[in-house]
Amino acid sequence: MTLGDLRMYRAELGDATQDQIRAASRVCPFSDEAPSEDSLGAASSEAPAQHHALLGQYSAIFAGRVSDPGYTLASSSGGLASWFAQRLIDSGRVAGVISVGHADDGPGIYAYQITADPASPTSRKSAYYASTMSEVLSRVENLDGQFALVGLPCFIKAARALCVERPALAQKLTVFVGLVCGHYKTQAFAESLAWQIGVPPQELEDIDFRVKRPDRPASDYDFGAKRAGETDWHFGQVRSLVGGSWGHGLFQPECCNFCDDVVAETASISFGDAWLPRFTANSNGTNVVICRDPSLQSYFDDAAATGEIGIESLSADDAALTQAGGFRHRREGLAVRLADDLAAGLSVPQKRVSPDASAVSKRRVRLIRQRRRLSADSHAAFAAARATGDLSGYLRTTMAGITRYQRLDTSLGRRIIRRLQYTVRLVADRFSS
Ligand SMILES: Cc1cc2nc3c(=O)[nH]c(=O)nc-3n(C[C@H](O)[C@H](O)[C@H](O)COP(=O)(O)OP(=O)(O)OC[C@H]3O[C@@H](n4cnc5c(N)ncnc54)[C@H](O)[C@@H]3O)c2cc1C
Repeated sequence: MTLGDLRMYRAELGDATQDQIRAASRVCPFSDEAPSEDSLGAASSEAPAQHHALLGQYSAIFAGRVSDPGYTLASSSGGLASWFAQRLIDSGRVAGVISVGHADDGPGIYAYQITADPASPTSRKSAYYASTMSEVLSRVENLDGQFALVGLPCFIKAARALCVERPALAQKLTVFVGLVCGHYKTQAFAESLAWQIGVPPQELEDIDFRVKRPDRPASDYDFGAKRAGETDWHFGQVRSLVGGSWGHGLFQPECCNFCDDVVAETASISFGDAWLPRFTANSNGTNVVICRDPSLQSYFDDAAATGEIGIESLSADDAALTQAGGFRHRREGLAVRLADDLAAGLSVPQKRVSPDASAVSKRRVRLIRQRRRLSADSHAAFAAARATGDLSGYLRTTMAGITRYQRLDTSLGRRIIRRLQYTVRLVADRFSS
């Protein structure tokens, strides 16, 4: 796997044989030769009892957080993902956890690592940062004990498919911890945000994607960047930075345009942010948790009984609502993109969504296309900025694209209200002059 100009990892086929390429194709999460999310099912020895059209199989769904606010402050959301990973180790269920944390010795700022200390602050928080698990997975087969793997839906799916191919790996990876995913980000995402707050890519030493601010809702967080040789951090409010809105899809790899799994359906358990107004107001952050392996439930019930964590049960529909934007992108958005590519004579992977350019209103179709354009253009525009050392061209092009997107995103009702407000102002001005 090599990091290319677009700042994400790509497989170099080099002198791989046809047999090796076929085998890789059987584990690539976007290949038709790989098993689908439905056929892989949930990673559980006991069958989960229930099924939801958007969430896949599940045995229990709840929302919650670690009770200690000092802990959640150093986590992205409610801290339950890293807390649970640590519990797996402390209870002896696994010897180590494979997850993305701050890289000890480069080359990137974050990397996949094997740790016995997933609750340490350097192993926590979301890494919206392209990484590869190829090195750790090749190492884990030779280690003693069993391991949990933390990953995004496509990583978990690939690892599950790899376990089918390599029984020795299946003996090692026994718990799959999924992270809910809106879409993936190349490393240029972090570089572009850091540059906007004064730290250019070549001087970027450290990043923090989710800096919580106690006086703001959980959804309104900062991005932090540290310049090499400095001790102070630079901060910027994510939603005010170009690319900070996930709806704009900047630096999203093209493969995400063909994904239909938001919640890591093939994981033993998945963690995300409970993006519902009643939870978002709490700046500590709140997780949505989708459990598919009933044997994992007691970790939560036992800790809730002592007050170490707080959890409340959530309906499957409410859990899906926490990711409403993600499901729009991966369901009707996917239907439109599949139809667009087929109409252009391109081949598309088989998905659980059928191609349909009329899945949504014409305006929404234009919005979906504009988001795809924004993603594609962001890679090239930022690569040019990097090459010339000048961010302004990237910001200009991207802002123009975002303005077009925002025009499409504004509902008819909001446009009418804006027009009325404008007219009222005009009339008021006339009478006051
Ligand atoms: C690219 C990306 C997109 C996401 N999109 C969404 C979304 O649309 N909606 C949503 O609700 N949630 C999304 N998440 C998940 C969310 O950001 C939190 O990671 C999740 O809510 C867990 O929070 P926590 O406080 O419990 O985790 P913490 O206590 O902060 O622990 C995080 C755990 O995840 C591991 N980790 C972090 N990043 C990665 C990574 N890239 N690969 C593998 N392991 C990692 C850490 O090592 C740690 O074990 C996304 C995460 C990523 C990385």
